[in-house]
Amino acid sequence: MEKPEDCVFCTEKESVHHLLFDCVVARLIWKIVSFYFNRQLGSDLESIARLWISNKSHGTLNSVCSAVLWCIWKFRNSFVFNNAVWLSTNQLWWLILQSIQKWKTIFMQEDSEQVEGFCTLLRSVLKAPPPLDWH
Ligand SMILES: [Zn+2]
Repeated sequence: MEKPEDCVFCTEKESVHHLLFDCVVARLIWKIVSFYFNRQLGSDLESIARLWISNKSHGTLNSVCSAVLWCIWKFRNSFVFNNAVWLSTNQLWWLILQSIQKWKTIFMQEDSEQVEGFCTLLRSVLKAPPPLDWH
């Protein structure tokens, strides 16, 4: 199997950085994650990895960011290896929501309210697209 050179979501050349941070799909995901945590996240790996060393105070944020990275990669692979068909970014939001819900058992008890708040936000995103002027 030959690896496609173009991003599966847009017409840009694919790289890890493009797929996880620069792609229009990734930017939309990170915009909403940034909104929820009230912090600029997802511009590059450093914007999220710098918080990994303080996992006690950013446990939910780190887990959500890990879920986002994992799900973007899985979503991309479903196009490359399983001929998935693009419907909307809701497919990716659904994957992220499902992953976080599966991972709930590993979250710290004190993070459960924030995790549930993020899941509630995702459910509202799945019901209606965010306004175009979100930033
Ligand atoms: Zn792209």
